[in-house]
Amino acid sequence: MESLIHLYKIGRGPSSSHTMGPIAALETFISKCPDANYYEITLYGSLALTGEGHLTNVALLDVLNEHNLNGDIVFNYDLFGLTHPNTLKITAFDEDKMEITSSTYFSIGGGNIIEDGIELNPLEDDVYPFENFEHIKQYCRDRKLSLVDVVNKFEGEYINEYLSLIYQTMKQSIERGLNTSGYLPGRLQLQRKAATLYNAPKCKESSLETKRRLIFACAYAVAEENASGGEVVTAPTCGSAGILPAVLLHEQLSNNFSDEQIVDALKVAGLIGVTVKQNGSISGAEAGCQAECGVACAMAAAALAYLNDLSLDEIEYAAEVALEHHLGLTCDPVGGYVQIPCIERNAVCATRAFDAVLIARHLTSNRRVSLDDIIATMYATGQDMNPHYRETSLGGMAKVIKV
Ligand code: SF4
Repeated sequence: MESLIHLYKIGRGPSSSHTMGPIAALETFISKCPDANYYEITLYGSLALTGEGHLTNVALLDVLNEHNLNGDIVFNYDLFGLTHPNTLKITAFDEDKMEITSSTYFSIGGGNIIEDGIELNPLEDDVYPFENFEHIKQYCRDRKLSLVDVVNKFEGEYINEYLSLIYQTMKQSIERGLNTSGYLPGRLQLQRKAATLYNAPKCKESSLETKRRLIFACAYAVAEENASGGEVVTAPTCGSAGILPAVLLHEQLSNNFSDEQIVDALKVAGLIGVTVKQNGSISGAEAGCQAECGVACAMAAAALAYLNDLSLDEIEYAAEVALEHHLGLTCDPVGGYVQIPCIERNAVCATRAFDAVLIARHLTSNRRVSLDDIIATMYATGQDMNPHYRETSLGGMAKVIKV
């Protein structure tokens, strides 16, 4: 399994697979072929169908501008015959319009890319010698280690500093989101709502309602920042970036957890995320929103269970419950924008993490389904899903709601 560094990335929204991945692909291509006269970037499949709403073209043209290079974007909307639903091809031409070279990239989710069949991984090798969560648990039991111990053992010294930066970035995105008003970019003309939720009058609310409203506000804040192309952390993706920060910050403020304790919770959540990446998918284009918001909810539930001193089995069950009840969740962003249903969904999924932990606290001893079972089910369900529901904006809400 890969390092948590590849899971949690700081980047620009609104989509890790549609902005961060393509940016990484173009930067990689330019570094190999920096002197071309013209760069043609062809987007295929989901990247073409939702690329405009996800600001893929804007992000790529910005990269070309930053390097003072000429080029343009071509959209190829044909869904058939693609090896991967998020494909882009970059071709370099000389001044006589003759092709110099080209490369094909798959944007596989969370900002990660595969170039001509090989995953580009700056840290080279996987750091965890595990195939699934059962292996992780067995390793913990045999050596009497916690999940945090496992991360510390295999990641090394750098992980605490890195995850501290990740948590600071998460908190900054919440703060910016709560303090920004106005409209989100794009044709939907959606107003930002995080501040409205945060500042709502409290008089008629129960304490439970207040708690949920504040979690909603934090999730909206990050998701609205993401929708505006702001800086967020993939957790595990940009589209689902509001769920884990909202749960962690609320829990920290409610129970006075230190930043170090929250960093440890990020480690536990991260192990869930990399297990899903290894055995399933975190890409809406590959497996629908169950792979993004469903996985984010599972990560948040695991982190919350850890902070509440639940056992290893209870942490696993919390993550399993959270993912199980997002099975089949489709990706159908209206107009191709990561706004409807994405922003509201982040808020709802954040509070579901608390429900999953409550169930795990009381019912773990009687469970029948493992986390590995549900990851396999999620991936198989995603593969069976009609492509209209996998980040193409051809079905579901995207079809019914006209913009
Ligand atoms: S519906 Fe879910 S998977 Fe699709 S763009 Fe929105 S957040 Fe991402």
